[in-house]
Amino acid sequence: MATKPIPQTEITNLVQGLHRMARNLWWTWDQEAQELFQELSPRGWTTLYHNAVAILREVSDYELRVRLQDPAFANNVRYVLKDFDDYLNEKYTWGRKYAPALHEHPVAYFSAEFGLHETMPIAAGGLGMLAGDHTKSASDLDIGFVGVSLFYREGYFQQAIDHNNWQTEYYSRLNPENLPMEPVLDAKGQRLVIQVRIALTDVKLYAWRVNVGRVPILLLDADHPANEQHFRDLTRRVYGGDSTTRIMQEIILGVGGVRLLRALGIAPSTFHMNEGHAAFLTVELIREKMVAGMTYDAALKASTRECIFTTHTPVEAGHDRFNSELVAYAAHALSEPIKLTHEQFMGLGRVKPEDPREPFCMTVLALKISRAANAVSELHGRVSREMWHCLYPHRPVDQVPIGHITNGVHVAGWMKGTVRKFWRQRLVHPEPASGSGTTRFWKAKAGHDWAREINSPEFWQKLTDPDFVSDEELWALRYKLRRELLEFTRRRLLLQAQRVTHEDFIAFDSLLNPDALTIGFARRFATYKRAPLIFEQFDNIVKLTRDARRPIQFVFAGKAHPRDDAGKAFIQKIIHLSKYSDLKGKLVFIENYDVHVARQMVSGCDVWLNNPRRPLEASGTSGMKAVCQGCLNLSILDGWWREGYNGENGFAIGADSNPADVNEQDRLDSANLYKTLTEQVIPTFFDRDENGIPHRWLQKIRNAMATLVVRFSTDRMVRDYTEKYYLAK
Ligand SMILES: *Cc1c(COP(=O)(O)O)cnc(C)c1O
Repeated sequence: MATKPIPQTEITNLVQGLHRMARNLWWTWDQEAQELFQELSPRGWTTLYHNAVAILREVSDYELRVRLQDPAFANNVRYVLKDFDDYLNEKYTWGRKYAPALHEHPVAYFSAEFGLHETMPIAAGGLGMLAGDHTKSASDLDIGFVGVSLFYREGYFQQAIDHNNWQTEYYSRLNPENLPMEPVLDAKGQRLVIQVRIALTDVKLYAWRVNVGRVPILLLDADHPANEQHFRDLTRRVYGGDSTTRIMQEIILGVGGVRLLRALGIAPSTFHMNEGHAAFLTVELIREKMVAGMTYDAALKASTRECIFTTHTPVEAGHDRFNSELVAYAAHALSEPIKLTHEQFMGLGRVKPEDPREPFCMTVLALKISRAANAVSELHGRVSREMWHCLYPHRPVDQVPIGHITNGVHVAGWMKGTVRKFWRQRLVHPEPASGSGTTRFWKAKAGHDWAREINSPEFWQKLTDPDFVSDEELWALRYKLRRELLEFTRRRLLLQAQRVTHEDFIAFDSLLNPDALTIGFARRFATYKRAPLIFEQFDNIVKLTRDARRPIQFVFAGKAHPRDDAGKAFIQKIIHLSKYSDLKGKLVFIENYDVHVARQMVSGCDVWLNNPRRPLEASGTSGMKAVCQGCLNLSILDGWWREGYNGENGFAIGADSNPADVNEQDRLDSANLYKTLTEQVIPTFFDRDENGIPHRWLQKIRNAMATLVVRFSTDRMVRDYTEKYYLAK
């Protein structure tokens, strides 16, 4: 019997619902929502790079209405829209219970970059990813929160590799109409315009709103027709240009950001500076208070109480420093209204305020004008207290007021679809393998409850029980994920080869071995991360890849900063090895590392390698993304792994210490890496029972999930920030 047609009014509701949902990044961490857009245009989903907004432009309104007359599809849309609205309207949330004050006076979280999804490339690396994950968890927990950043018209660069295996950069212009963002309007319905004085010019700024679940991120945009071109270009690229561009971007972010919040009537209780880039916001807060009649000293004190600061790196280049002439030129409009001379203003950014040779450091400014500061892991806390002891010479080093909150990742957002389905199936249809009734309490749940489940220790603890998930199933999942990575890699390498014509033939369909232990490495190619370290033992590594019984192989990816030739030389070296050495076919380099590539790699690899020069990796987060997918960490005991590793949940390279001499350190780490690989990783992975199951390996995966997923999630991290910093004044 035919089903009755769906009334046009309801079709209209569903169409509007889909448009509303596409413009909220919630769909990026909801599997069913993504599948709706994918179903609308499977090929478009791939070619438009998983962009829901673009899919709804690709499919005509008429087609959409017709397609919605398919009752099964319409039902799925209804179901997902209900989840979406339930999520937005949920009343009994962690934030309403534990942090109701923030709903009136939110946290304003300033970050020069936000990594949210592969279609919004406005992040350069880990700092931005962390900001994006922080925001998603702020939404999940439902705390009062607003992100502030810049809209970079050309985003961060895309990577292409030329004939000499040298990284080249290209940019493509982002079209806001194709992105989940909307213009911010004023009370009259006109584009809101914020004004900030930079050098001698009043620069006009537009604003955009990005909806991330329940919370917004506001992006400032200098591409206003009234601005001269060089000012319009200020928000063209993430960290683009020289230090003049940089200081001007930071004036826009800090000063413009505060003015934007005021224009929207938002009265934050806390201004959270994610890294020093946003530190000029402190000066704007002082100015506001002086305009209202406070003295400089009182305004300084009151502003300090409003700000908190997170430092993210002990690497010198990660701390912006501007010389006196540049500050005088670009930022004099900051010092004048707060009645400071140029030298006094410079003093705010100096360790020794009177030293005329010292440049202006944004980290120093942020540390001076914040009520609390933190590093991003325990070891990084210790290193940061030593690094900034100079600012607090009268205190012992362990009393330097920099604490730590270890980073995390947004678990639902990083979990690959295959993995989400796997866990979700076990959650929603809990058929216990052994027939015991204990798993009954995992009742069928709606979507947002699923997100809550995966942030609960009980859920992951449950998975240590082989009655709940058998070793056979877990191993089947791991094989499926490795297969998916392999096929993704083959496709990508074929595309890469088509762009640059290669003389030598690569047999793409036989590239990589589906049975080999697959080791992944992907991150920014900053030299301290030492990407080529494992190939120091070249001949030994070649032998391991050729072991017919216990083969290993490597997948690499990562971008070097456009001006970092040493990082580019590392990329060149690895690509050269992948094409011309005895590692050919056993080592691949995937170009254009981004969120999508990251998700493929952290899920499909068996081992996630990290070998930074300790203690320079403040936290690191990519290894955290690997855990919920069943990929094990093999890492130096730096950053988060020093806290996470317990002997049973992955692999450590070397000891909880490091020699002072870097050459000695490199030599030692390379030897230890090889040792752990050959004595622990490979033997455990290939230790199979008569049915081919590696029980010891799978036990480590279970241990990792039970001990790491929840602890290194942004759900835990944002709760920590809220309790320790946002609510404490
Ligand atoms: C997670 C992530 C990073 C940060 O990784 P680290 O391990 O902290 O270096 C950088 N880039 C992308 C695209 C990521 O997804």
